[in-house]
Amino acid sequence: MDAAQDALKGMDIVKEKAVMNRFLQELVKEHGSAAYGEESVRKNLETGSVDTLLLSSHLRKSRIRMKCPNCTHHHEATVTSEGGVDLKEIEIPNCPGCTTPMVIDGETDIVEELTQLADKSGSKVAIISDDFEEGAMLYNAFGGVAAILRYRTGY
Ligand SMILES: [Zn+2]
Repeated sequence: MDAAQDALKGMDIVKEKAVMNRFLQELVKEHGSAAYGEESVRKNLETGSVDTLLLSSHLRKSRIRMKCPNCTHHHEATVTSEGGVDLKEIEIPNCPGCTTPMVIDGETDIVEELTQLADKSGSKVAIISDDFEEGAMLYNAFGGVAAILRYRTGY
């Protein structure tokens, strides 16, 4: 890596650290506006309450969409995609409505999928590398998915 690339990378980490520190500050406040974990952050994204979405660059997961071939029922699940997703290995549930085995309707990388959700509600997105302590913490302690919220929510 040459000096210019090194300086550019350094600048990114300064920005990433600033975002991580804002998240951690909100998290430790008694009534702070922070959320973490895929399920909680997803609910906040769907209700438009996310200011900044934090995603670990180390995330290796996919969102799998399934549908019932017989009725209108849809289902989504997150699977780990380290080393690629083998769609044949995914456990597909039967439709809870009509008990027909569901079929896979699509697969999206989780970073892309959550970024699209964030775009819909005008949330900022920060991809955080794990090259520094707080960045590694995002992946190890918070499941690689966290959010600074516009306002405090119950989930
Ligand atoms: Zn069905």
